[in-house]
Amino acid sequence: LEKVPSDIEIAMAQTPKRVSDLGLEIGLLPDELESYGKYKAKVELSVLERLAHRKDGKYIVISGITPTPLGEGKSTTTIGLAQALGAELGRPAFACVRQPSQGPTFGIKGGAAGGGYSQVIPMDEFNLHLTGDIHAVTAANNLLAAALDARMFHEATQSDKALYSRLVPTKKGKREFAPLMFKRLQKLGIDKTNPNELTPEEITRFARLDVDPATITWNRVLDTNDRFLRRITVGRGSAEKGHERETGFDIAVASECMAVLALTTGLEDMRNRLGAMVVATSKQGQPITADDIGVSGALAVLLKDAIKPNLMQTLQGTPVFVHAGPFANIAHGNSSILADQIALKLAGTEEGDSSDRVGYVLTEGGFGADMGMEKFCNIKCRVSGLTPDATIIVATTRALKMHGGGPEVTPGKPLHVTYTEEDLVTLKEGCKNLVRHIENSRKFGVKVIVAINQFATDTPAELALVREEALAGGADAAVVSNHWAEGGAGARALAEAVIATCEGSSQFKFLYDLNLPIEEKISIISKEIYGADGIELSELAKTQVDTYTAQGYSNLAICMAKTQYSFSHDPKLKGVPTGFTIPIREVRLSAGAGFLYPILGDMATMPGLGTRPGFWEVGLDPETGAVQGLF
Ligand code: ADP
Repeated sequence: LEKVPSDIEIAMAQTPKRVSDLGLEIGLLPDELESYGKYKAKVELSVLERLAHRKDGKYIVISGITPTPLGEGKSTTTIGLAQALGAELGRPAFACVRQPSQGPTFGIKGGAAGGGYSQVIPMDEFNLHLTGDIHAVTAANNLLAAALDARMFHEATQSDKALYSRLVPTKKGKREFAPLMFKRLQKLGIDKTNPNELTPEEITRFARLDVDPATITWNRVLDTNDRFLRRITVGRGSAEKGHERETGFDIAVASECMAVLALTTGLEDMRNRLGAMVVATSKQGQPITADDIGVSGALAVLLKDAIKPNLMQTLQGTPVFVHAGPFANIAHGNSSILADQIALKLAGTEEGDSSDRVGYVLTEGGFGADMGMEKFCNIKCRVSGLTPDATIIVATTRALKMHGGGPEVTPGKPLHVTYTEEDLVTLKEGCKNLVRHIENSRKFGVKVIVAINQFATDTPAELALVREEALAGGADAAVVSNHWAEGGAGARALAEAVIATCEGSSQFKFLYDLNLPIEEKISIISKEIYGADGIELSELAKTQVDTYTAQGYSNLAICMAKTQYSFSHDPKLKGVPTGFTIPIREVRLSAGAGFLYPILGDMATMPGLGTRPGFWEVGLDPETGAVQGLF
């Protein structure tokens, strides 16, 4: 293979087409596109109504084997395959990916635009601000945090009557409830519309949320890896003296607002989900929501543009939707439902169209199939009502070798020969990890395609071995793909396999019923997908499960917050671990997003910066102003 230039060099060498031209090519009307500069645009949700009559295109979810520090290339494969289907085979083909957080972009992971000759461009815009959606999520999250602290402060410093008269002020001689207050009255069972008729007891209940400070779960967020904000004390100004409390910052993409953005199906639905977000419990044990605080309408306003998917393109000019990027550890880590729905309609067929008009939507499931694909099926598809036609599991020989017992890698040191030379024994052992993911995927009733993302050092015997093991392990197809080095042309065979596999019908099913008790749902995922013997709840987790059940949240989906580096809760256990019990340390609630998330180990929600972060490399070319050093 010839030497492939760096990702940013390749990305910068290609001039993208104007997004207005791309919009027309994929069947959007000029009014359905809202350009942000020359190469990015937001797409109006009204397109869903205009194309409602169309039959959806084929829907394919891409995830991978259990991740290793060696990288599997899920994003690169998604983009390379979209280029193959769209630019090489002439099919309508859409890639739907997450917007990366600036934390990892400037940290150690780098961006997420794909790599080599399979990338989203302009790569710098993709990896940085895009159209400001993450900033909007940050604004919404922090408005709610500010509103909560302010409300607690005012409740602590005012009498019931004073509080009530400020919350429901007299305007032009008349007291009037704000529209959102009727929701609160309803929740409290106070059947009155005239603010002057509330009894003193009702005034107290209405005006006092009575937040128990120990139960606050709502943090502030920022899209920067800032380890010094993990634990902070707020309220240190002189006016707030006596009201200090400990809290913390999370990375912006870990905000529940981001999970809501990813899972919403429209403006009204988003508004309701934002309102249902729980930030704390009252001293009486009631959940306190954004609706109770009166801020949910404002949150929806802050996110009204962010809800529209962003259109960009691959190096070969095929369409890519970049939308939402929920943190994959504590949330479901999938791109947005709305982007997928729009792409499926644009890739869809009209009555009377021939079958070769049908298009393909490739959506990324993040992490390994035990995480990204499981959550895609059990959480995202349950909300959207969509069902996948196939799943792709991306594997590389080097990552499989690590699962087969290959040594750990040390950053900055050359790779061990196991990873750079032929080693069929270690590779064969590592294929067991791949096979377990194939078997898991089949439990959802979907067809499974294994994409072997080729590296320059892979030998023909190694590639053949992975294919054989994948097919013997139950994959419907297993194809070697060289899109990193060759772009779409290198993924032709994979694209053909996708087309052939999607021709058959699939029998999609969920893994668990939402109405089962919380503990049983967690147990099903742990046993069926992770291969655990069972689960063990801490005392705290048991109490939380009881609280959520009493509060009426037991029928939510389960979003496991587990390490991505192992089927188990221990990142060191590679391959296919057995004989372990999953400890559930804590269970948290994302009522707006619509899931409970059991926490299996330590889950950092604010990454830190190391000694030598990626930002050292990043800068502007003094002559052209072009961005350098992003990867
Ligand atoms: P994932 O989505 O699984 O995290 P990415 O697609 O972002 O992985 O790829 C991670 C890194 O590995 C990128 O920098 C990409 O350029 C590189 N990479 C991916 N596939 C290959 C390949 N076949 N050969 C060399 N480098 C690759």
